[in-house]
Amino acid sequence: MSDRVLVTGGAGYIGSHACKALKAAGFTPVTYDSLVTGWQEAVKFGPFEQGDLMDRARLDEVLARHRPVAVMHFAALSQVGEAMREPGKYWRGNVAASLTLIEATLAVGIKDFVFSSTCATYGDHDGVVLDENTPQNPLNAYGASKRAIEDMLKDFGASDGLRSVVFRYFNVAGADPEGEVGEFHQPETHLIPLILDAVDGKRGALTIFGTDYPTPDGTCIRDYVHVMDLVDAHVLGLKRLKEGKVGAGIEVFCLGTGNGFSVREVINESRHVTNRPVPITEGARREGDAVKLVSGSEKAVAVLGWEPHRSTMAQMVTDAWRWHQNGGYAR
Ligand code: UDP
Repeated sequence: MSDRVLVTGGAGYIGSHACKALKAAGFTPVTYDSLVTGWQEAVKFGPFEQGDLMDRARLDEVLARHRPVAVMHFAALSQVGEAMREPGKYWRGNVAASLTLIEATLAVGIKDFVFSSTCATYGDHDGVVLDENTPQNPLNAYGASKRAIEDMLKDFGASDGLRSVVFRYFNVAGADPEGEVGEFHQPETHLIPLILDAVDGKRGALTIFGTDYPTPDGTCIRDYVHVMDLVDAHVLGLKRLKEGKVGAGIEVFCLGTGNGFSVREVINESRHVTNRPVPITEGARREGDAVKLVSGSEKAVAVLGWEPHRSTMAQMVTDAWRWHQNGGYAR
């Protein structure tokens, strides 16, 4: 029987793709998800256990029954705007919930942990390319909650020998090229799915949030990574843990392409790929948006042997468009 891995948030966008990659790598992903933002239809690659991270008894029961060899932790609240309005939700739903998970994990003797963090832990750094050593000064409760979880993992490394691989990244895009899973949020706030909705008339014109930024075309610049490449890195991190190459504490990897795309560049690529016009309106800046966020991944390439294959903008939009036309989940 193949080794099991508990995947929190396995019914969500990135978690469901991670389950597919884990299965392909010979593991059995056990999805633990509350379905508050996830989709049961996205759980296709291993057992499903519905549950909340705050429910310690349920976690204990699931861990005891499946006896996973590691935990991969994706489940989180992740909307910056909401985090600004309701920080308590993030400190409870991300930090307190992760503490419960970590304690339950250690209680059954699991020491290997993969954590999906974020470059939002860095805050604004005037457009420099971020790396693992960039100081973390988060601007909102979302970034602060993820940094706090990293700190907890470090502390439990020192006290209990927990070994964690932590990934920090920003914009994830694209979908499983085989169309089994894809991106589907409700409400949708992410640029590429909103563009595709505007293209096929599922909603009105895309509003560009700010056209007066100090960038070549006046719109914000972000680093986009294909979801399949991103989850490959998570599997490589897990393998590194299982090979005993990670010591107690946290080992951090940034995942980016080092290349930024402006909002207008993403729109242009979407026009190309879909061969249809993208209706747009130019709107005001969105509160909390940084001008330029780009991260490198030299360490992930050198240490993990990570090789992103699909993270060109054309490929990401192509895969997202295919999913958009054929996929989606229904409540
Ligand atoms: N954006 C936009 N219009 C939208 C949604 C997003 O102009 O309707 C911009 C946003 O300001 C940012 C980029 O697209 O510069 C990516 O935003 P998204 O919400 O996808 O990801 P984030 O960078 O916030 O994690």
